[in-house]
Amino acid sequence: ADDKPVKDTYKIASDSLFAPFEFQNSDKQYVGIDVDLLKAIAKTENFKIAMDFVGFQTAVDQTQAGHADGMIAGMSITAERKNVFDFSDPYFTANASLAVKKTTTDIKSYKDLKGKTVGVKNGTASQAFIDKNKDKYGYKVKVFDAADTMYQSLNTGSINAFMDDEPVVKYAIIQGQEFATPITPEKIGEYGFAVKKGENPELISMFNAGLKKIKANGQYDKIVAKYMGNDA
Ligand code: GLN
Repeated sequence: ADDKPVKDTYKIASDSLFAPFEFQNSDKQYVGIDVDLLKAIAKTENFKIAMDFVGFQTAVDQTQAGHADGMIAGMSITAERKNVFDFSDPYFTANASLAVKKTTTDIKSYKDLKGKTVGVKNGTASQAFIDKNKDKYGYKVKVFDAADTMYQSLNTGSINAFMDDEPVVKYAIIQGQEFATPITPEKIGEYGFAVKKGENPELISMFNAGLKKIKANGQYDKIVAKYMGNDA
């Protein structure tokens, strides 16, 4: 059957910094919604995981190369990705949002980005959106490997805006980043757990079965509330 582990331990790749979905706590332990959800699902379905927090694009590459059995990284289920990945049932809904510094008053629509520089994280749905609309709005694009350097670049003014997932931007603001989101967010697809197309089908089946169970028994809500409070 598809719903039993075939491997002793599944190697799962993830982002290096995508709070509140995966990030290091003060003890340098990786925690977050993705981490806790996958752990709860693995426990429920009796499979073992070893997670590696390598960054978003690297997680995509490792999964495609078969160096990781699957990935969970706040990864949006998009039509393009469905060509090369099999996704689980969606486990979270998130749009992408343009962020500017709180003190920025001259960016109220994409048109206002003319001549400005917009940051994106490599390989993300935000990058696809920002690249696609680059000529239309006449901005430059700067690509980052991780969120910390991108956020820092906004703070120091080397970029004028960045695009990232809305719950991640909101969380950063709650954590003290002085950002604002002046434009209505873009729909980029719901988050899914992913495997390379055609590989490890049992992982998808087990994830879906476990997700149903932890939604039914309240564990899912507890995990989301733990990291997002009443904001979820
Ligand atoms: N949800 C976005 C995507 O799938 C961003 C994911 C991320 O940065 N970890 O591209």
